[in-house]
Amino acid sequence: MLCRAGCGACCIEPSISSAIPLHPLGKPAAVRCLHLDVANYCLLFLEASRPAVCNNFQATIDSCGNTQMEAMSILAEWERLTAPDTTNENPNG
Ligand code: SF4
Ligand code: SF4
Repeated sequence: MLCRAGCGACCIEPSISSAIPLHPLGKPAAVRCLHLDVANYCLLFLEASRPAVCNNFQATIDSCGNTQMEAMSILAEWERLTAPDTTNENPNG
């Protein structure tokens, strides 16, 4: 499918582990990328500094659904399912 104009859900819900200009340590989940403009377009779209993970993300019905709200919900769920399991970590380090 074609990316839905003005959606931006994949620039908000997923965490991004690679560095992004203004997000040198990457972006946590459910945090709006600082390069997403008010109309939900990527300000780095034509820039060499746009991360590979962003260039490579393909819009599909499975990830993007039929509306922005659906995409937000799907991507938030994927993020939850793929988050590292920290339940067995030793709290004393
Ligand atoms: S979630 Fe999908 S439709 Fe929305 S901006 Fe990202 S790629 Fe495009
Ligand atoms: S750099 Fe652009 S495509 Fe990547 S998360 Fe930020 S706004 Fe979205």
